[in-house]
Amino acid sequence: MSNVPFLTLSDGHRIPQFGLGVWQTPAGQTAQVVAAALELGYRHIDTAAIYGNEEGVGQAIATSGIARDELFVTTKLWNADQGYDSALKALDTSLAKLGLDYVDLYLIHWPCPAQDRFVDSWKALVQARKDGKARSIGVSNFRAQDIDRIVEATGVAPAVDQIELHPLLQQDELRAYAAAHGIVVESWSPLAQGGELLHDPALQAIAARHGKSVAQVILRWHIQLGLVVFPKSVTPARIAENIDIFDFALSDQDMAAIAALDAGKRLGPDPAAFEMV
Ligand code: NAD
Repeated sequence: MSNVPFLTLSDGHRIPQFGLGVWQTPAGQTAQVVAAALELGYRHIDTAAIYGNEEGVGQAIATSGIARDELFVTTKLWNADQGYDSALKALDTSLAKLGLDYVDLYLIHWPCPAQDRFVDSWKALVQARKDGKARSIGVSNFRAQDIDRIVEATGVAPAVDQIELHPLLQQDELRAYAAAHGIVVESWSPLAQGGELLHDPALQAIAARHGKSVAQVILRWHIQLGLVVFPKSVTPARIAENIDIFDFALSDQDMAAIAALDAGKRLGPDPAAFEMV
């Protein structure tokens, strides 16, 4: 079994700090990939309606034999379904695809500020939590100003904000805002999508010193910053490698060297402008 630590959310529920992301995991391969991860000790899966693979996640869970309360499943409300009634309906659809009575965490995927429906969507998530269909509720890609608006409208703060975050985009300001408001930050694209960052000489030097891979060093950095992380892979060897990060620790000097890599470099869309439906 793995030694994945838990964080406690502001609503009192616990979240495994490490899991598996399944964006771009092909629908036909998802059940097999998730089953492999569960066998390796993964207990937290991050999917979304728009990923088109909730059924595969559900199949792997159903056949795993793992008790429901040992698993943490997140899915997300797609932009096209924002609004009060449509959000509640979209959650029911996701639950049916996952074969679950509730998700552990339901997120508004993007704020889509120009469409301006996220306050109504948030009210629906608050209701879904009351109805027991989502244990915890949160947001993704929300800026501080977006969070301020939903809190003003409902008095309910999101348990998490899932944002693009990796050594090239460290999000110091939004992390400080989240910390001040008791919001846990989840890092999406934690490995910067497996690109050039994995060949960075500073990271390679740290990895060599610890006898770990660069990917493992980056994931460990997220963990030591108190972030929640769920790297994506469909390759069993990498799925095993990515969770094997709880037997070493980065030094303050290592952490400082990684902090110096921040380049304010976004790989994904800018949440201020992303309105795709
Ligand atoms: P990631 O940073 O996890 O990178 C994944 C890629 O890195 C893989 O496709 C593979 O090419 C490579 N990789 C993985 N493990 C490796 C290893 N050990 N060694 C070398 N290369 C390795 O990127 P991601 O998939 O974009 O992000 C992770 C998860 O975050 C997603 O699956 C999804 O669940 C979530 N996400 C959410 C949003 C959002 O808007 N909320 C956006 C993007 C991703």
